[in-house]
Amino acid sequence: MAASPFPAYVSTRGSSPAVDFVGALLAGVAPDGGLYVPAFWPEISALPAASIDAIALANAILAPFVGEALEAGVLERATARLTEQFRHAETTPLIELEPGLFVLELFHGPTAAFKDYAMQMVAVLGEAALAGRGERLLLVTATSGDTGAAAVRAFGGMDRIDLVVLHPLGRVSPVQRLQMTTAGAANVLNLAVRGDFDDCQRLVKQLLAHPGLTAGRRVSSVNSINWARLAGQIPYYASAARSLGSQAAHATYVVPTGNFGDAFAGWAARRMGLPMGGLLAATNRNDALVRALETGIYERTQAVPTASVSMDVQAPSNFERLVFEASGRDSALTRGLFEGFARDGRLTLPGELLAALRREVGAVSVSEAETAQEIARTWAQAGRVVCPHTAVALHAARRLDRSSGPVVALSTAHPAKFPEAVEAALGFAPERPPQLEGLEGRTEVFEIVDPTLAAVLAAIG
Ligand SMILES: *Cc1c(COP(=O)(O)O)cnc(C)c1O
Repeated sequence: MAASPFPAYVSTRGSSPAVDFVGALLAGVAPDGGLYVPAFWPEISALPAASIDAIALANAILAPFVGEALEAGVLERATARLTEQFRHAETTPLIELEPGLFVLELFHGPTAAFKDYAMQMVAVLGEAALAGRGERLLLVTATSGDTGAAAVRAFGGMDRIDLVVLHPLGRVSPVQRLQMTTAGAANVLNLAVRGDFDDCQRLVKQLLAHPGLTAGRRVSSVNSINWARLAGQIPYYASAARSLGSQAAHATYVVPTGNFGDAFAGWAARRMGLPMGGLLAATNRNDALVRALETGIYERTQAVPTASVSMDVQAPSNFERLVFEASGRDSALTRGLFEGFARDGRLTLPGELLAALRREVGAVSVSEAETAQEIARTWAQAGRVVCPHTAVALHAARRLDRSSGPVVALSTAHPAKFPEAVEAALGFAPERPPQLEGLEGRTEVFEIVDPTLAAVLAAIG
């Protein structure tokens, strides 16, 4: 076997060749259907010094993942966006709500959701990788709102990347729709699908597998199955750990979870040696992960709509990465389980694996009533308005014992992106931050299509 380039990425299903960072970034999913993970986890021996800024910190965390795969200076151009595009001097400030209870604010980027953080960097890295190879890339993505907005903002105006975003017609919030449709970028095509989010996801899968579309060009997707996006979320855990100082090793992180991308980035941070105590995934009523850890049966069910719409995910795609790691990187076992899951919508975790998974993460589900109560309580007690996703995490965080260490809830979106849910809980609408001002005055560009592959292909042209 040829020596693999370092740092190399391997598939969780074990039968794709190893690739470098650029290979993983441009492919999205591995050819064998698995997800890319680093062949070896880089170790971080010391927390970055308190004196370095968000950019230097991200450089330090991400450089071992990129290695020699990109020209010198490209990573630095990407991480520079963490201050250029973010409206807070600390990029991701850690705020103490009450003794021992913190929120890590990840929403100060251009579209006011945490997905900006990695997406902004990935756009720069992807463009540079394509320039180096003289290639172009067609990105297709399905969105329930936040991913599409962050992608349009990050990739709009890029030279070598075209972006197609499918959103369910009438089922994203007006703010989210306007963020996607008013960008005015020639390389972005917005399709409003007459259907629901699952229709959009199904169509994206069909597009990625369609020979006519992929002939002669690279086609990929930009959600958190993409390793580059996931890696791009690790630095803010380092930033939080640094802010916590000596308490960091005992801190529990509570991550509002949909596809388990953000939470897996936290797992990776700890695996790399960053100080961290517990990791708890908080879901809304779409609780496949919680049931899997309770019963050992991981099962796809119909997603139910909730106030935390960006977490209305029925089968969190990054669960496969966690299973791979918790099984001791057993790719044959992982492949068997997830090929079965793709076929049957259901898999049973062997007892030993289930016990190992429980040692890595916890998971809890938060109801709609609890989410609304939490928005009201955080306003009453701390004078802060939080979005429904953040409220899910905060509610789970408050249930934890804080006597052994601090609890950090990740705050993933600005409340003004979800004014209806906030107003229902508080009786008033949240104030809009500057990056969400002025959307209504702009011209919207999108096409409405039927939920069929033929209709989407015709629109793409
Ligand atoms: C995407 C999203 C989440 C869920 O993140 P995952 O990585 O999919 O688990 C949580 N909150 C907000 C606001 C989001 O946009």
